[in-house]
Amino acid sequence: MASWTEAVSERKLHQSRGTLTLPPDSMTRSSPRAGRTPLGFVVSIALAMASALAFRHDASAQSAKAIPTPASVLGFEPGADRKLPTWKQVTDYFAALDKASPRVTVRTLGKTTLGRPFIVAFISDPATLASLPKYQRIQQQLMDPRKKTAATRESLIAQGKNVILITSSIHSTEVGGFLTPFVIADRLARANTAEAREVLANTIIMLVPSQNPDGVDIVGDWYRSSLGTPYEGTNPPSLYHFYTGHDNNRDWYAFSQKETRYTVDSLYTPWVPQIVNDIHQQGSGAGRIFIPPYMDPVEPNIDPILTASTNAMGMAMSWRLIAEGKLGVATNASYDQWSPARQYSLNHRGARILTETASARLASPMDVPYQTLGTARGYDAREATWNHPAIWPGGRWGIGDIVAYQSSATWALLVEAARNRRGWLESYAAMGDRALAESHPWTTTAVPTVYVISKTQKDPSALTRLLWSLQHGQVEVYNSIPDGNYLVPTTQPFGSYAKALLERQKYPNLLEYPGGPPKRPYDVTAHTLPLLFGVDVQALTSPGIALGPIVKPVEEPRYDVAGLSGTSRKRIAIYQSYNASMDEGWTRWVFDANRIPFTTVHDKDVRTGGLRAKFDAIILPDQSAMQLQRGLGAPYPDSLRGGLGAPGAAALKEFVTAGGTLLAFNEASEYAIEALALPVKNILEGVRSTDFYAPGSLFGVEIDRAHPAASTYTAAVPAIWFEDSPTFEITDASRAVSVARYQSAGDPLLSGWLNGGARLNGKSAMVDATLGQGHVYLYGFRPQYRAQTNATWPLIWSAILR
Ligand SMILES: [Zn+2]
Repeated sequence: MASWTEAVSERKLHQSRGTLTLPPDSMTRSSPRAGRTPLGFVVSIALAMASALAFRHDASAQSAKAIPTPASVLGFEPGADRKLPTWKQVTDYFAALDKASPRVTVRTLGKTTLGRPFIVAFISDPATLASLPKYQRIQQQLMDPRKKTAATRESLIAQGKNVILITSSIHSTEVGGFLTPFVIADRLARANTAEAREVLANTIIMLVPSQNPDGVDIVGDWYRSSLGTPYEGTNPPSLYHFYTGHDNNRDWYAFSQKETRYTVDSLYTPWVPQIVNDIHQQGSGAGRIFIPPYMDPVEPNIDPILTASTNAMGMAMSWRLIAEGKLGVATNASYDQWSPARQYSLNHRGARILTETASARLASPMDVPYQTLGTARGYDAREATWNHPAIWPGGRWGIGDIVAYQSSATWALLVEAARNRRGWLESYAAMGDRALAESHPWTTTAVPTVYVISKTQKDPSALTRLLWSLQHGQVEVYNSIPDGNYLVPTTQPFGSYAKALLERQKYPNLLEYPGGPPKRPYDVTAHTLPLLFGVDVQALTSPGIALGPIVKPVEEPRYDVAGLSGTSRKRIAIYQSYNASMDEGWTRWVFDANRIPFTTVHDKDVRTGGLRAKFDAIILPDQSAMQLQRGLGAPYPDSLRGGLGAPGAAALKEFVTAGGTLLAFNEASEYAIEALALPVKNILEGVRSTDFYAPGSLFGVEIDRAHPAASTYTAAVPAIWFEDSPTFEITDASRAVSVARYQSAGDPLLSGWLNGGARLNGKSAMVDATLGQGHVYLYGFRPQYRAQTNATWPLIWSAILR
């Protein structure tokens, strides 16, 4: 654990700068309580020594005079109320730090989606920074037993560093993450304490100050323009990542976005870090910070060494924060350990330390009275329990508090990682040995020897995407002899990860209590690439399958839709709500990836009418009927309010009647049924979660391949992505037909979690409703879910082309 004097002196340093917003009575409240325990005694001594320590800091500050302070670049202290940096200020600061400090080396990894530089700062002892290739080699040798001999293992462990990746502010409304990297970098570049020296000597830190630089300006610009208005502190009326919004943290096996690729290609793959600290914020109404352990379930392919080390690190951090006097620290709460979409490191040898600090209103403070604090999953913010031992008494909460909690948590992680460097490296090497063992010692079910991917697939670009995705996640793919199919053996460094993506998930049937409602997962429950992409893959269990040559990295797939890619024969509009929908962003990404031109339309474009003269097809991406109809309300400015409303519904009806095609994805189908008075009923409306539940799973369907909207569909095992989806019953067969329907008996679940599946038997998953001269296509699923469902993309293209 930490030296308490360090913690107190760091706090003193920040108080003197006026950046740390501790509750005014925190000292008087913690001191008497602390005085009753030996630990508290240490804290009391430390408090008494604070002035002497502050002097020591002054002295070290003198010696580091040339190092720029964050305030000298920003014009304010990180954590000052109502102040956020621009991305230019962030990059200016790190460029200045790179110049001034031998402990910091900054690299640009590429340009973001909207053209900003994406940077990383390597932070360590100057001698270590001078030999980064050497340490990268040590990492690779420790990670992969094929690259070392038993004799060199001990010397590699003795020389190696604990490599830590810190990714901040991937979610751009979690604005403390814009500022905490300044505090961490400044402390490491400047500090001369024994603790800081220990961190620098034992670790290599790769600090990504923002995993979404575009969002720093999208949110920052909106926030600055909102200051002093009624909508100060609201979220911007657009996605904060151009394509994905919040889903940018659901891209860690599909790697569709540039920002994901920079971190994977330039940091994860060459370095395979032991620890990843991912800095986030949560809602404002419960605990002040979440730190692992996570809640169940655990993805069964993750090496339990990582679950255990994540738990141990989280508990050490929680211990230190509570000892520093931080209140409202919760563990084993809210967040689970299931989807690889947001936990790349847990599938790649790295402990994942997610921290989630309570939010304010962006950088504007708020008052959170004690009586308003509530429960989160796993604890009650007004009760002391083992996983939430110190109650926060409520009060003012602002950006300074957020930065203080985030910085303390990250510092606690760094100190713990430095102190137990050897332990981390030993278990890291052990994981390498286990991955290459004949069977994975932690699995109780049989592990296939190899997955066989036939080289002949109906959709060659989907096959290429599967190979590209696996290789991009460090999976080795081999050719078979003599037929040249593709083989993915499970005995390889990231064989467990490959297995997780190639097999079907069996999500546990977790209920709140016996007979009670299902326990909502943190995210979705399935990630089976062969079903998502529509590629045929077979698992084989037989020893002695000969591997041919390793397959060189394949090129990224190029998609092509005859009649739409390049110069489209159809004029297509995609509706964009000011109540931003991530599905709308993903839809744009899929269109861009397929090079299909489209026009973005907003509420007033639709409400104005005359749509048939401009467009042949209009897409309503997944969004609730209520949001589509009403849009944004107060306190947003009038120009953004109102949604589609009655004029929008009338204009869409007129568009279809005059021969237009309307495509409504997932929940938007419910809007279309009502707004256009279609002869279709959603049979799941009002059904309780105890009777039917499927929070993000893959279901089998029967596709009517003779229907024109399914004419380009190719997947051998038809699977759709079901997530809070409607399911249809046609009430007038003369005006609507089914394009895809569920089997007449049995459970349609292919991967993930489903309770009450019999309800779907014989019902429609996709409907073609005729209205006047036109058609409305209702999709009771997400046909381009997170850009991953290549299998169902053709159901979009054929409907548009019909
Ligand atoms: Zn987040």
